Amino acid sequence: ETLDKGLEKSKESFFGKLSKAVAGKSKVDDDVLDNLEEILVASDVGVDTTLKIIDRIEKRVAKDKYVGTDELNRILRDEIAGLLSETNIGNETEFTIPENKKPYVLMVVGVNGVGKTTTIGKLAAQFKKQGLKVVLGAADTFRAAAIDQLQVWADRTDVPIVRQEMGSDPASVAFDTLKSAVTQDADVVIIDTAGRLHNKVNLMNELTKIKRVMQKVVADAPHDVLLVLDGSTGQNAFEQAKQFTLATEVTSLAVTKLDGTAKGGVVIGISDQFQIPVKYIGVGEGIDDLQVFNKHEFVDSFFK
Ligand code: GDP
Repeated sequence: ETLDKGLEKSKESFFGKLSKAVAGKSKVDDDVLDNLEEILVASDVGVDTTLKIIDRIEKRVAKDKYVGTDELNRILRDEIAGLLSETNIGNETEFTIPENKKPYVLMVVGVNGVGKTTTIGKLAAQFKKQGLKVVLGAADTFRAAAIDQLQVWADRTDVPIVRQEMGSDPASVAFDTLKSAVTQDADVVIIDTAGRLHNKVNLMNELTKIKRVMQKVVADAPHDVLLVLDGSTGQNAFEQAKQFTLATEVTSLAVTKLDGTAKGGVVIGISDQFQIPVKYIGVGEGIDDLQVFNKHEFVDSFFK
């Protein structure tokens, strides 16, 4: 229900246009396919993934053969779902800590402004609600505002935070956070990192160092590197995914701001192009506006 509401704009543009593309058509001809292609590209699915989808539809639907709107929708839905990778939280509605991974270390990366801090705050709230003990680490030491904003979320969710002065070594903050988490017998650690992309070598070095230093405390940390992308930025989100996957091993994605965009297709394109599972989607600014991504629900929400 909330997903439908959150994705209202994406749904309107995507399904609305899709219906128009097939309205009054009794078969899938070049016209229909061209229209479909346009709609997918306009929804920010991306050209490569769009062509893949069109190609698959063409293979499934014999050209110029009668196929009703329902049938075309079903095929399209199938093909899109097939492109979205399953996450390790699959159909579950909440996160469970894998065995022998306590504290579970989640390192969060992404460019400033994409909703990184908000996502961390929402996650902290969700984990806490599940009864998990959470610790936040303010390893984005580059901006004072980043530390302060994370503090606001720590206060709001009543979760402990480990922080140092602005400008201190991010790896040192991460180290302290993990130490503190182990001492407190915490279940989950969420580490915020700086979101500067302008110097790729620095970014890579910084993230590598944070990882290395964290491993002095928790040998297999981080268990998850979550890249946060702003779903309303289309091609920028693709570019950021490209840069971050070059800089570090990204293991999952959170796509934010899908409530304010008609371009939810970016989730499909990015998931397909980078083969990284989307774990969470942000559908609002509120503390509860983060959802565990379920590909079937997501695709269904477009075709209701
Ligand atoms: P950061 O710089 O990446 O840490 O970004 P912030 O977490 O500070 O978020 C930037 C802005 O985006 C804030 O105004 C947030 O309230 C807003 N924001 C974050 N996630 C979402 C979302 O899912 N939907 C909407 N509408 N706004 C969001």
